[in-house]
Amino acid sequence: MIEFQAVSKWFGSLKVIKEISATVDKGTTIVLCGPSGSGKSTLVRTVNRLEPIQEGTITVGGMDINAKSVNVNTLRTGIGFVFQQFNLFPHLTVVDNVMLPLRRIHQQSRKEALPAALLMLERVGLADKANALPADISGGQSQRVAIARSLMLKPEVLILDEPTSALDPEMVSEVLRLLRQLSGEGLTMMCVTHEMGFAREVSDRVWFLKNGKLTFNAQPELFFSSETHPDVRGFLSAIQ
Ligand code: ATP
Ligand code: MG
Repeated sequence: MIEFQAVSKWFGSLKVIKEISATVDKGTTIVLCGPSGSGKSTLVRTVNRLEPIQEGTITVGGMDINAKSVNVNTLRTGIGFVFQQFNLFPHLTVVDNVMLPLRRIHQQSRKEALPAALLMLERVGLADKANALPADISGGQSQRVAIARSLMLKPEVLILDEPTSALDPEMVSEVLRLLRQLSGEGLTMMCVTHEMGFAREVSDRVWFLKNGKLTFNAQPELFFSSETHPDVRGFLSAIQ
């Protein structure tokens, strides 16, 4: 589904992604973790060309995303992206936020887009908040609205960069529950997170980045086992 082949990236003279080669299989959930500054955000942002790469190849569904023929807007339509900050439009109701991609990308009228948006809100358990404004719902609910919005164009891949780290602790679990549900439904996901319970229970593979290098890429059982990479062991003991 997504393949990184010897991908490297520099910011000026600073090399922040170093020869990364790895594959995300269709229908799997990858958790990406590693110390601050290790390149997690940069790596996931390369997948929809928010960050250009200088070396290597990234393919999504077999297509080289950096090929000249690729339209970046079309590419981004197929890849949902969820950020730490939910970026909801404060003056629009929840359901209007959710239907925005259909209105902007598919040029649908509000009336045309409404049924699909309401269905999506039901899927994320927020049908009763359709007409609320973002200021009147919780952080956890806001992030679920942002996830709902990112799914409206039926992306093949959902990428999440620390989707729960801006949330109060009591709101984290409702967002993780939704991500677990989506993973179970077969969505392909790459999720940057330090929620190790989620990594253990939901991910198919854990990727560990250190200093721009992918130093570990295996099943969670191995990640959390005593046989794990020494860097991982140090990281786990520091955060737990
Ligand atoms: P965190 O856990 O703090 O979010 P991260 O693993 O997501 O960290 P990145 O944000 O990908 O790390 O940063 C990787 C490296 O690239 C860091 O050294 C960072 O300082 C650098 N960097 C990130 N964005 C830029 C930029 N726009 N310009 C220059 N350097 C950058
Ligand atoms: Mg980051």
